[in-house]
Amino acid sequence: MKIGIIGAGISGLASAMKAKELGMEFTVFDGRDQVGGRLLNKDLVDGSIIELGGQWFNHHHKEVQKLIDNLGLLTFATPVKADFEHLFEREVKMGLDLPKFKALIDEICYMADQLDLNDLMNHPKAKNWDAIDFNEWIMYQTNDQLIKDSVNVLFNWHFSNFQVDNTSLLNVLFFIKSNNAVKYFFEFSAGLNEQRIVGGLVLLAKKLARQIGLENILLNSKVLKIEQKGNKVIIHTNQDSYEFDHVIIGLAPEMTKEINFEPPLPPENIALMKAFSKTKVYKFSFTYETKFWDGHGFNLKTSGYISKCIENTTVINKDYVFVGFVIGDKKDVIMSKSVEERKQILLDEIKTIYDSAEAYNYSDFSEYNWDDEIFKDGYFVSKLGINDWNKYHKIWSKPVGNIHFSGAEFSKNYNGFVEGGVQRGYEVIDEILKK
Ligand SMILES: Cc1cc2nc3c(=O)[nH]c(=O)nc-3n(C[C@H](O)[C@H](O)[C@H](O)COP(=O)(O)OP(=O)(O)OC[C@H]3O[C@@H](n4cnc5c(N)ncnc54)[C@H](O)[C@@H]3O)c2cc1C
Repeated sequence: MKIGIIGAGISGLASAMKAKELGMEFTVFDGRDQVGGRLLNKDLVDGSIIELGGQWFNHHHKEVQKLIDNLGLLTFATPVKADFEHLFEREVKMGLDLPKFKALIDEICYMADQLDLNDLMNHPKAKNWDAIDFNEWIMYQTNDQLIKDSVNVLFNWHFSNFQVDNTSLLNVLFFIKSNNAVKYFFEFSAGLNEQRIVGGLVLLAKKLARQIGLENILLNSKVLKIEQKGNKVIIHTNQDSYEFDHVIIGLAPEMTKEINFEPPLPPENIALMKAFSKTKVYKFSFTYETKFWDGHGFNLKTSGYISKCIENTTVINKDYVFVGFVIGDKKDVIMSKSVEERKQILLDEIKTIYDSAEAYNYSDFSEYNWDDEIFKDGYFVSKLGINDWNKYHKIWSKPVGNIHFSGAEFSKNYNGFVEGGVQRGYEVIDEILKK
C-alpha cells in the first residue's frame, strides 16, 4: 500500500514513522524547506536557541515522551510554579474572590468531565452547550468582572493553544477534557508548561525525520491539488504529480481549504474547513544578562497587552530568556504598530510588572508573526465556533474516500498540542488499515 502524507509537521511525521514500522510505502510532502511546521527555533549568536513555536510538554503527553526516549533526546523541567496560589497572586491583590473563582472553575471542570470524547454529542446537554457562546455563559454565572477576566486568562494561559472568544461552551469543555485539563488545574504545579527538550521541541521533528529517512520527505513541495481517480489518489505539487492508494492531510484546516480537490470535497466538508478560525497569538522574547525578575518565574495578567510572561531560559542559553504572549484582539493592535513602538510598549509593561528599569537592558529581541508564514496557519491552533459541533460532529475527522484528515486539530485527545498531533498521526494509519 502506498501512502502520501501532506505536511512534515509532527503529525505527518508521526504517521510516516508508523507507516515505516508497518512496512508501508510512503512519501511526505511539505511546502517549506524544513520539517517541524509549528515547531521552530531561532538561532542566537551565542549558539543557543529561542523557540518561536510549540515548546512545552508535560507528563500526561505519553506519546511525546515515548518518542523523546526512543530518539534519545534530553529534557529539562521548567522552573515555573503555575498552581492556583501562584497563578492568581496579582489578581488576589487586586481583590479577586479566590473561593468564588475556584468554585466556578470547579464547575466548568466538572461539566467537562461528563463528556465522552468518543461521542461528544452523546451528552444530553451537548446540543445546548454548543449553541451558547462561552463568554455569554460566563456572564450568566457571575457579574464579577475580575472573575470573568481571570477565567479568560486562565484558559488562555493553561491552554495557550486555545482562546475562549467566539467559541461555544461545548468547545471549551471539549478542549478541557481533551487536554486532561481537569488535572492541570488541581494537580500540576507547573500547569501545562512542565518540561522542555534541550535544543527545542523541533528536535523531535528533526530526529524523527532522520529516522523516517530524509529520502522519503519531499521539501519545497507545496501540494496544490488532490485528485481521486477510482481507487487511487493523485497528489499534484508545484514540482510533480504522484499516485497513492491513500492520502493523509496533516495540516491545519485553514491550510487544507487552500488545496484544490477533484472531485470537490462534499459541501459539508468544505463548510467544516471554513468553520475553523485561527486563534490570535504573538510570542516575543527578550534576553538579558541579569535576571532582574524574581518570584516564581511567570506572571499572569488580566490587563495591558501582555497576558502572560514567563522565564524561558534553557540549560544552553548563555543569557536569561524572558518570553511573553499577547493574545486575542490585542495581538492585532500590537502588530499594527512598528517594531520599535511594539518593543517600547512591551518593555514599559515588563518594567512595570517587575518595577525594574533593568527591563530596558536587553541583549536580544525575537518575535515571530505566524500570520506571515504562508505554509502554516490557524495559530496556535484553529478552533471551531458556536454551533459548529452541532453542524459537523458527524464528519469531523472522518475520511472522504481515500483522503484522511490528520493534524493536531483533528485529534480527540490533546487537541491542539504536539501530543494530539502525534496521537492523531498514529490513529489515522489505523484508520487506513481498517479500510
Ligand atoms: C507560538 C506557538 C506556541 C505553541 N506552544 C505549544 C506548546 O508549548 N506545546 C504544545 O504541545 N503545542 C504548542 N503549540 C501547538 C503545536 O505547535 C501544534 O499543535 C503542532 O505543532 C501541530 O502539528 P501538526 O503536524 O498538526 O501541524 P503543523 O505543525 O502546522 O504542520 C503542517 C505542515 O504542513 C505544511 N503545509 C501546509 N500547507 C501545505 C501544502 N499545501 N503543501 C505542503 N505542505 C503544506 C506546513 O509547512 C507544515 O510544516 C504551539 C503553537 C504555536 C504556533
